[in-house]
Amino acid sequence: MNKILIVLVSTLLCSSCNHQNTEKAAVNIDQQFDYFKDRFVNALWKQYPGWASSVGFHNYDSILTIPNNTEKEAGLLFSQKYLDSLKSFDINSLSQNNKTDYYLIKNNLESTIWYAKEFDSGSWNPAEYNIGGAFSEILNTSQYPLEDRLKNIILKLKNVDLYYAAAKENIKNPTKEHTDLAINQLSGAISVFDTDIPEAAKSAKLSEEEKNILHERCKKAVNEINNYVNFLKSMKNEHPRPFNIGKDLYFKKFEMDIQSKFTAEEIYQRALQRKKELHLKMYQAATALWPKYLGKEKLPNDSLKLIKMMIDKLSIHHTHRDSFQSEIEQQIPKLIEFIKQKDLIYIDPSKPLVVRKEPAYMQGVAGASISSPGPYDKNGNTYYNVGTLANYSATEAESYLREYNDYILQILNIHEAIPGHYTQLVYSNNSPSIIKSLFGNGAMIEGWAVYTELMMLENEYGNNAPEMWLMYYKWHLRSVCNTILDYSIHVNKMSEKEALQLLINEAFQQEAEAKGKYKRVSLTQVQLCSYFTGFTEIYDLRETLRQKKGNSFNLKQFHEHFLSYGSAPVKYISEAMLSN
Ligand code: ZN
Ligand code: ZN
Repeated sequence: MNKILIVLVSTLLCSSCNHQNTEKAAVNIDQQFDYFKDRFVNALWKQYPGWASSVGFHNYDSILTIPNNTEKEAGLLFSQKYLDSLKSFDINSLSQNNKTDYYLIKNNLESTIWYAKEFDSGSWNPAEYNIGGAFSEILNTSQYPLEDRLKNIILKLKNVDLYYAAAKENIKNPTKEHTDLAINQLSGAISVFDTDIPEAAKSAKLSEEEKNILHERCKKAVNEINNYVNFLKSMKNEHPRPFNIGKDLYFKKFEMDIQSKFTAEEIYQRALQRKKELHLKMYQAATALWPKYLGKEKLPNDSLKLIKMMIDKLSIHHTHRDSFQSEIEQQIPKLIEFIKQKDLIYIDPSKPLVVRKEPAYMQGVAGASISSPGPYDKNGNTYYNVGTLANYSATEAESYLREYNDYILQILNIHEAIPGHYTQLVYSNNSPSIIKSLFGNGAMIEGWAVYTELMMLENEYGNNAPEMWLMYYKWHLRSVCNTILDYSIHVNKMSEKEALQLLINEAFQQEAEAKGKYKRVSLTQVQLCSYFTGFTEIYDLRETLRQKKGNSFNLKQFHEHFLSYGSAPVKYISEAMLSN
């Protein structure tokens, strides 16, 4: 049924996008390219069943891919084959929409080859071998009946032993940081097999025999995961690989993942410049607020100290640790109301956003995130995952809550939910291209969320209060410093001490937040640059269009038009929007 859907979608696409193409040849090549995309996507799911499940294409849910050499070779062959097929299309004859898809497919295939051959994280990141998420995804989808899902899970569980045997074989020189992460996350993943699946099976109409096999295999999976964790714990590794990936890998990864018009070096320089500008704006705002909050207290000479004192003063306004999640829930309808009132962008009321506690298998990296239904699951829930504060001590919780104070929490909700990630992903799933929905560009996605923070304040969200602006600048400084930090640590080998100094002294972060960020940089690479890079590109584009169109520029139209391209790299969206 899903296959029919893809064909249908692309048929609609080519009849609607080619209307300006009067030449017959042009129509044909775009049609041919649409057929190619269908074939490619179908083959992609066959090649990567786990990826298919995660985007809501469930034909291959019963297959667990064993990460061995045979599989790696097959992946390389697959990528090469489709890169060759791409060459048969003259890119200049394609419609704008297909041109972008062409670039996205090409970049994806080239990335896959580069990741397998050069980056090779499978040999140094043990956390990549976590099956918890994949099984949880299948268990929790509402796209088909529970009984069939459990039958698929029975089949998928069959070769968990082979899976972990291959994982152990692949791990050559893991970093200490990724090893710790793996141990942590896998311990959480166990609950999927010893609690979640057995619980779900209780109410399912399965035969006794099926239930027995399921329980047997769940037990086996728990065993295999525990064995793998023990293998990691007992591994002798006197000179572990450093987590900093170094300049060469970093520059290439930036190119592959971000797909920006900027190089890593250029965006790093822009970020340094932006940090300076923000410090000046913050100094002005803090000085203006001084009499209201600190009265006759003497202004410190050091401007960073002055800003920090004002931020600290405002940060004591925060919610209680037990009402953190409910506070977030209450704010969502208010944001929707504001956007309607100001006519900033259409928000589809039929797609629900569900705020939930972060599932156990996701814990370890980020504090809040959005999980959206994939392009095959348009009626699925969009989740706003909120990290729990349950394991925090009183001091840690206070530090965290000051960071996410009453002002910042609103900006976080703009970023994560409305009109940030949640809104963008709804549009992305409606975009006329399966390719753009699938190969979502992280810099566009994060850049959009970061852009909306400023856009909301420009439209007087928070009534132009200097308190709100000061806190916004602090928050925005975080995106900027994410870039500076990531680049400095991975390329220039900045030390932990210097990193914490940058975050605490120059970005005004609480210690808990700063340490969390440092941990994240040690586990990821380049991703932290996506926020500021995407933001810079989107803001540049908006201002260029505003100038070009003069009085006829309309903000709501700009937003909806921009998002209609799906999660494509901003450089391609810019090309399309500036050409008409
Ligand atoms: Zn407090
Ligand atoms: Zn984000």
